[in-house]
Formats: sequence, structure tokens, C-alpha cells
Amino acid sequence: MLIVMHHHASQAEIDQVIAAVVALGLQAEPIPGSLRTAIGVLGNQGYVDDSTIRTLSGVRETIHVSKPYKMVSRDFHPEPTIVDVSGVRFGEGEKPVVIAGPCSIESEEQMMAAAELVKAAGAQMLRGGAFKPRTGPYSFQGLGFEGLRYLQQAGQANGLPVVTEVMRIEQLETICRHADMLQVGARNMQNFDLLKEVGKTGHPVLLKRGMSATLEDFLAAAEYIIAEGNNRVVLCERGIRTFEKATRNTLDLSVVPLIREMSHLPIIVDPSHATGKRMLVPIMSRAALVVGAHGVMVEVHPNPATALCDGAQSLSGRGFSELMVEINRLNDFLGGRDC
Ligand code: PEP
Ligand code: MN
Repeated sequence: MLIVMHHHASQAEIDQVIAAVVALGLQAEPIPGSLRTAIGVLGNQGYVDDSTIRTLSGVRETIHVSKPYKMVSRDFHPEPTIVDVSGVRFGEGEKPVVIAGPCSIESEEQMMAAAELVKAAGAQMLRGGAFKPRTGPYSFQGLGFEGLRYLQQAGQANGLPVVTEVMRIEQLETICRHADMLQVGARNMQNFDLLKEVGKTGHPVLLKRGMSATLEDFLAAAEYIIAEGNNRVVLCERGIRTFEKATRNTLDLSVVPLIREMSHLPIIVDPSHATGKRMLVPIMSRAALVVGAHGVMVEVHPNPATALCDGAQSLSGRGFSELMVEINRLNDFLGGRDC
């Protein structure tokens, strides 16, 4: 870290900053300049918490050289991480993974029908929410633990590993028994206690980007999981909040190549929650794969018109089959090449 002093900072202020750095167990190296003095901080293993230093008098700004996501970064771990979820592999050099299924698990029949049709079309994993983070308390909140059973049965009957969202720490143990992968949703991306406990399980995790999270926030959230010893993390871009109202969120596809450069973790895209519009899901799925996503997660419902949640962005079985044909054609064209 570099601490830049104001041009009018006195020697006493500079000395106070040096003492504060030393108090953190680090070394301080003053670098006098013609206009102002900077102080280099040495000896840190990772990110320095600068909250005590930034407020000292005479300090203009602190510039971080180390990032708050050391273990997530390529600098720390240059080799790409492949995340294996019960035989389905996410990451560099692997075929892009398609996860599909309904927003919510609504009944045993609905979940089984969804699993059968996404399997027939060629999806490699099944999704379905049992615990739903709905914006309003009167909307369908999910079937809870009962839904988990339907999801597991549907996955097993069709040979598809399953992913489902965890909202609370108390749900973790049961969800780990029923699901192959834990999803941390956009609304919980910065639920740090949940992230730590998810990290302790060692279970594969799908971490979705918070709707107001910067790229740094997103990677720092993944760091919470990895720091607990669980590097089986797949990141998921699902759109961010902007002033644009034409789509539910704004799909930020540029983070895909950025994340691939900055981090060793796989990154997939959810075009359903990003756009909120069925019509945009196929084309944005293809766009995601072209920019290098390691997969996509798409909402599919046997009868979108009756869906209890997110019907407007859900593909029908037929729509999903058509998308899979396009995805397979695109994969053949890309031939495993990174764009
Ligand atoms: C979901 O994938 O079920 C979901 C609720 O998405 P998000 O957390 O991205 O809003
Ligand atoms: Mn949904």
C-alpha cells in the first residue's frame, strides 16, 4: 500500500502515520517528493486494512497494491480452477455447462416434468429454488424442505446434479445432503456470515453477483468462501441494477473476460435474471458463450404461463430445446477456443 500525504502535511503528521503503520506490524518507507511525501508500506502478506490510517491528519489518500481477494486472484493461483460438481466440470478447457430448470420448485410433478425436458434437450445440471428470496413477503416463498426432496428425486431420476439456493445458515446441513451445489443468490452475496459457513462445508458453490456489487465486491465475496478452505466456487454474472428499465437488470458481459483474467475461478452467466425477458434469453446465452463464459444458467418451466415465479423470463421446453441446438452449434464453431 502507498500512503499519499497532503502537500501541506507537517513532519509531525508524517511521523504519526509512520507510527500507525509500525503499530500494524508493518514497515513504513517515506518517499519524499517535490510536492508531497508518500509513504510506502512494506511487509504485508495481503490486503492492508487502512481504516485507522486513512483518517489520520495529513493523509490525502491510500492506494492499495494488494487486492482484498488474494486467494481468488490469478496472481496467487495462476492455474485455472476446475470445479467438479458430481462429474459436471466447470472451467477453462471444459465444454460450457448448461444449468436449466424452473425458478421455483412448485410441485413433485412440475419438478419432474422440468427435469425430463431439460435432460432431453441436453442440459448437464438441474436448478430449482426451494427457498426463494422474493422481493415482497406476499409472493410465493418456495416449498422449503419439501421442495428439496422433489428436486433431488427429479435430478436422480434424470442423472442431473442439482443446484439450489441457500438463504440461511441453518438450512446448510440439509441442503448439502440433498443438493450437489449450493447457490448463494444475488441478495446474499454480501451476507458474510453465510459465505463463511458455506466455505466451511466444502460443498461446490454457485456465487451470484449482487445487483449492486462491483467486480471487486464480487471477488471479495468469493474470497470469504475460499478463505475458509473451499475453492469449489463458480461465479455467476446475473446483471446489475442500472437506470435502464427495458430489461430487469443490465447484463454486464464485460466482467466475463475481466474475471477470466483476474481470477482462476470459473464464471458463468444467468441471462434469465439479467434480462427478465424470455425473448432475450437465447441471444444473450450465446453472447455469454462468445465472450468466454464457462456456462449459462437458464430458467425453464414446463408451462411458463402458470409459473409461480419468473414466468416471463422462463423458456418453455420447446424454447429450451431450440436454444440447446444453437448452443451446440456455437460450441462446435468455437471448438473449445477461447475468444
Ligand atoms: C435465482 O437464480 O433463483 C435467483 C433468485 O437469482 P438472483 O439471486 O440472481 O436474483
Ligand atoms: Mn427466478
